[in-house]
Amino acid sequence: MTLKERVRSILLQLPSNVELLAVGKGRTPEEILEAVNAGVAAVGENYIKDARDARSVVGTRVEWHYIGRLRSHDVRASNLSLFDMIESVDTLELAARIDEKCTPTGRVMPILVEVNSGREPQKAGVWPEQTEALVRQIAALKCVRVAGLMTMGPLMVAREAYRPCFAETRRLFLDIGRMAIPGVSMEKLSMGTSDSYEVAIEEGANVVRLGTVLFGPR
Ligand SMILES: *Cc1c(COP(=O)(O)O)cnc(C)c1O
Repeated sequence: MTLKERVRSILLQLPSNVELLAVGKGRTPEEILEAVNAGVAAVGENYIKDARDARSVVGTRVEWHYIGRLRSHDVRASNLSLFDMIESVDTLELAARIDEKCTPTGRVMPILVEVNSGREPQKAGVWPEQTEALVRQIAALKCVRVAGLMTMGPLMVAREAYRPCFAETRRLFLDIGRMAIPGVSMEKLSMGTSDSYEVAIEEGANVVRLGTVLFGPR
């Protein structure tokens, strides 16, 4: 199958309430453009430079999401302006820095709180039991809006091993949503990569982040 055919077949396969975020990691701007021409409406990037390069070719007809590790010195207004959403916020410090850089521009940045649902010490994300507290702290910031949760799940496990991690993240998503915390709207539940998106959708994901199944192996 060509890239275009793979994109179309994934789009047909996804339930209508599930959004596809095409992950651009390791792909050229031209490949990303080809995916966009085949119907991709949102692109996730792990690196600022990649996002800048791809955005200069593809433009703003798609949404750009940041999904990587955001280091403090990368949190600058010029970098934040590249993105419609930051999906990988896992500390108050990082959220506060985004808030600080957005404040002079008057922009409110939608963010997702990343949950370490696999409970792996070396992995990014807030511990599941600390998620509510972090959401409440971030909600107090004026120029950041919590729009949902994101998780990777454990690394290199059998497909079924993702299920309890995604199920727990979904419970958090629903529980925190019911709390109706001012400044929080639990809209997006971003879970699942090429290895795990089917299980993620069964467990309630409404955003899946796919690289390999669209573009081939990296
Ligand atoms: C690379 C990456 C993905 C996509 O992984 P694939 O296995 O290529 O689908 C999704 N989310 C994040 C945060 C990533 O870094």
